[in-house]
Amino acid sequence: MNIRIGFLHNRRNLKVKFKGNYSVSGLEGRVTDRTVAGRSYELNLLDSVPAEHQWYEKLDTFFDITKMESYRQKYDPDEISTRTVKAGKKIGLSDNFEYWIMKKAPDMSGKIYPSGDFRYKKLVKKEADGEIGFSGARYRKKIVFIPENRNCSFSVEGVRVGIDFHWDHTEDLEYSGGLEVMIDNSGGLTAINIVDLEDYLASVNSSEMRNDNNIEMLKAQTVAARSTVLATMGKHHFEEGFDLCSDDHCQCYQGIGKISELSLRVAEETKGEVLMFDSRFADARYSKICGGVTERYSACWEDRDLPYLASFYDRHNGEEVVSEMSENETRTFIDNTENDCFCNTFRHKLPKSLSFCKDLFRWEVSVSIVDIEKNLKIKFGKEIGEIKNIEAVQRGRSGRIINLIVSGSDGVVIIGKELNVRRLLSDTHLPSSAFYITRDHECFILKGAGWGHGVGLCQIGAQIMGESGYDYKQILKHYYRGASVRRTDGI
Ligand SMILES: [Zn+2]
Ligand SMILES: [Zn+2]
Repeated sequence: MNIRIGFLHNRRNLKVKFKGNYSVSGLEGRVTDRTVAGRSYELNLLDSVPAEHQWYEKLDTFFDITKMESYRQKYDPDEISTRTVKAGKKIGLSDNFEYWIMKKAPDMSGKIYPSGDFRYKKLVKKEADGEIGFSGARYRKKIVFIPENRNCSFSVEGVRVGIDFHWDHTEDLEYSGGLEVMIDNSGGLTAINIVDLEDYLASVNSSEMRNDNNIEMLKAQTVAARSTVLATMGKHHFEEGFDLCSDDHCQCYQGIGKISELSLRVAEETKGEVLMFDSRFADARYSKICGGVTERYSACWEDRDLPYLASFYDRHNGEEVVSEMSENETRTFIDNTENDCFCNTFRHKLPKSLSFCKDLFRWEVSVSIVDIEKNLKIKFGKEIGEIKNIEAVQRGRSGRIINLIVSGSDGVVIIGKELNVRRLLSDTHLPSSAFYITRDHECFILKGAGWGHGVGLCQIGAQIMGESGYDYKQILKHYYRGASVRRTDGI
């Protein structure tokens, strides 16, 4: 099965070198040209008109068409004030469709709003148009390169990797499969790699796999990644022309140059295995270190929860956490370094390649008022004078801050959800939003737990589980409660 990964966006031109022969076609699908192996080509944006958009507020999401229809019948049978959008993809004999009930909203460009960036979506009113120049010819809207066989590959110059992270840089990357270059919604060029799902997974996992990692942890992670791809395809980048992006927003993908033997082996040994819940692909999120308690989906993303992404103590048969952590409970939890959980890096030994996680089970960071003011302005476009205080107004069940209130001399702003909180309080990303705050003159001291959003599988916990004799199916059962591993041959 092929998936479409968008890896370059809003470009004026790009340089591609093909290894092997590719057929070239345009919008109509007719072959118009063939590439010469080993030669470099340039693609240029000749002219374009960006797409026209309308902002919408997402009122509700349904997996089930019958439930969606009965909701619509009850509240807006003629779709006068709302509109229903079907998002997702057909996947073999199955699908991952979901239905969004949307209501027209004012222009939200450049605005920040509490509870993250998931409530408002820009839908296309009129598609972008334009022409792409390639090898002396003009192609309207898109140009597609299809390889003659599986040994073909192509490389692209200057792909931006690690956007907004401290390792942000550009690289020349090599890809297998096909290439599509299209006029994107902004009127620039977007490059899409049309790649086999298993090749994609082997590449995605390579960046996280080292030879000294526990093999059961790696297998669990691969099954989780495969499930998440199938569960989220066509939703994160709705109406953008591709299934997933190549950055951390979806999953970091850097082409075939990065595939290791180990990740190929792990993908092969778990081939076709996915996590399912209620006959649907599970959106099996994972992060580095939960810190002792896992978090729920709604604390980090949309205001809805998935039953298999619950909050519980990360230990054998760890009990479920059923209410939000209070300020005092968060302090007690974070100060307790003796916590008997799988990912307690003070109690368990880590392999060399993961030793950098040693100090992330519990951590302490100092952030200056000046830096918060700067980040608020640069990253969120807000100026509220001199910062007087920052305070958690809502926490999740793992203690992670969902909404943070920032009070300044000229106003107040709420920042949410967890990823935005982390972006505000660090030049790159704070390890997690599970922290409590104390004041020290011109700085705030943040004492925290874990690294990442803490939802789903905890990679360090899974590593320790694997070393303690659990197999990958037991690891998956521990982190995704109620979900089961199935084989989906033929997708
Ligand atoms: Zn993405
Ligand atoms: Zn953990």
